[in-house]
Amino acid sequence: MAKLTRRDLLVGAGASLAVGSKALAGVPVAGKQVPSFYRSKLGDFELTVVSDGARPIPLPPRFVLNVPNEEVLKAAEAAYMPKGTVFAPFNPMVVNTGSKLVLIDTGYGPIAPTVGLLPQSLAAAGIDPKSIDIVLISHMHGDHINGIKNPDGSLAFPNAEIKVPAVDWAFWMDDANAAKAPEGFFKASFGFCRKIFGDLKTRVTIYQWGSEVAPGMTAIETAGHTPGHTSFAIQSGSSKLLFQGDVSNVPDPTLPLALPVLVQLHAGAGACWEAGFDVTQTKRNDATTFSGRMQVP
Ligand SMILES: [Zn+2]
Repeated sequence: MAKLTRRDLLVGAGASLAVGSKALAGVPVAGKQVPSFYRSKLGDFELTVVSDGARPIPLPPRFVLNVPNEEVLKAAEAAYMPKGTVFAPFNPMVVNTGSKLVLIDTGYGPIAPTVGLLPQSLAAAGIDPKSIDIVLISHMHGDHINGIKNPDGSLAFPNAEIKVPAVDWAFWMDDANAAKAPEGFFKASFGFCRKIFGDLKTRVTIYQWGSEVAPGMTAIETAGHTPGHTSFAIQSGSSKLLFQGDVSNVPDPTLPLALPVLVQLHAGAGACWEAGFDVTQTKRNDATTFSGRMQVP
C-alpha cells in the first residue's frame, strides 16, 4: 500500500475544500424564513408556542407609555433592530388541555414575506389545523385574527369554535366606529375585522371577562391596548401561566430597558393599562407570564 506523505494529505485537504466550496456556492439561497415552535409543560397541559414570524414595526407617538419613544428607539437600534423600528415577533400558542386543543390567536396571515408562517409552524410541530377545537382571540388586531382564514377565504381551522371578547367585538364590528376611524392603523384594523368576521357573525362565540373559555382557562380583563383586550389565566393543577396578549410589547432581554415596553393604543382606555400591567406581575398572581411578543424560548 502506498504511504501517504504530509504533502499528499495537504493536497488532498485542499482538493476537498475546493470541492466543498464549489458545492456550497451551487446551492440556491432559500429566500424564505423557516417554521419554528417551542414546546413545554404546564402541569398536565402541553404548551406549544408556534411562530407566525416577525417584522419591524415603526413606533407611532404614544405607542409606548412607560418609556419615551426616543429612548425605546435608541435601545432598539443598539440591539441591532432596523433604525426607527422595534422588531416584533408574533407568537400564537397551542394549549393541549388533554380534552381540548386550543389555539390562542392566529397571527398575521401572509400580508408580508416575514409573517404568516403559522400554518408551516403548526405543520412542523405535528399539529393538524383540523384538530384545533377552540380558537381563542385575545383581541381583534390584524396580527391576532388574520390567520383565522386561508388566503382563499376558507377557514384555516374548520372544526374550531372561534371565541372573541365581547367588548372588542362590540367596538370593532360597529359600523359607526369604523366610519370615523382615522386613516392608517385604525382604519386598517377595522378593515381586517370586516374581512375576517364579516361573514362569520353567526359562527363566532362571544365570551365575557371572568368566564372559563376553555378547560382551565379564564378570560381576564386587560383592556387598554384595545377596548376589549383580554389576557388568559391558564391553570393545570398548581401550575399557572398568564397569557398576556399585547399588554406589553417586545419585552426583549437584549433591549437595555429596565421595564418591559408597554403598549396602549386605544385613546379612550385611560388608566386601564395600569390594571393590565398589575395583572401581569407574576408575583401577585403566582404565575409565569407569557406574551405573544416574547422571544421564544
Ligand atoms: Zn394588538
